[in-house]
Amino acid sequence: MSFKNKVCVVTGGANGIGFTIAHEFAKAGSSIAIIDLDKTAGEKAINDIIKYGVEGLFVCGDIAEKDTLEAFADKVIDKFGKIDYLINNACITRKGIISGCEYDDFNYVLKVGVTAPYMLSKLFLNHFNTGGAIVNIASTRAFMSQPDTESYTAAKGGILALTHALAISLAGKVRVNSISPGWIDVSKNNKYSYSISDHIQHPVRRIGNPMDIARTALFLCDENNGFITGENITVDGGMTKQMIYHGDYGWKYNE
Ligand code: NAD
Repeated sequence: MSFKNKVCVVTGGANGIGFTIAHEFAKAGSSIAIIDLDKTAGEKAINDIIKYGVEGLFVCGDIAEKDTLEAFADKVIDKFGKIDYLINNACITRKGIISGCEYDDFNYVLKVGVTAPYMLSKLFLNHFNTGGAIVNIASTRAFMSQPDTESYTAAKGGILALTHALAISLAGKVRVNSISPGWIDVSKNNKYSYSISDHIQHPVRRIGNPMDIARTALFLCDENNGFITGENITVDGGMTKQMIYHGDYGWKYNE
């Protein structure tokens, strides 16, 4: 599958997983449009990306804002005409019910994590080339929780369900899938130092990295995999498949 001469839109593409996704699509030949709050990192990301010989567009803005989304979509269409891939990647947390996540905090996270992916899908709907694909970045937190995570977890449950709803509404036009990452090291060059236990608690014996997610995004956008839509792929080193009980297999609960 060639990603040459395609156009890929990535939200939150200035840092972390979105940055790596943008780079990998550019390396494969796609032009890139990024929207991100981080102006310095976003401009740098696009300057790096155009070295691959593709076109780049960076817009600094908050995807929680309707006007920003509309202006971004207009700029993308003005520059590229059509798009091929939309990667709804940006999200944040404002914690949950224990630490006092308020009405506005909760709604803000939903705007970034669910409303923006919906609105961008709508704004680009009539501008996808044949073979277009949307990839929504969810999280394993859509399926399981730690305490005090309601805003983020609700957003991730929302984007997961949005994925299958859009897949059916956009049937025959755009395929829509999601990826649920587990623990991904987004430090620059994976430079955080984790304990051995952090790694080996995973069934695959390591923490994930952004390339694990970027490769999955490329896989889902690849037209050779065009029989897949409405699906979620969990990329978590097996953590959500692992059953844990105190006293079994070395797992200990410290009271
Ligand atoms: P990150 O914080 O490293 O990068 C997120 C980027 O999104 C940043 O550049 C930030 O400026 C941008 N952003 C945040 N809010 C924005 C807004 N309102 N408008 C525009 N841009 C905004 O995050 P990451 O770890 O790379 O996460 C990327 C995606 O992967 C998120 O959806 C996250 O929930 C998901 N995820 C990450 C992990 C992980 O372990 N890193 C695990 C599961 C899911």
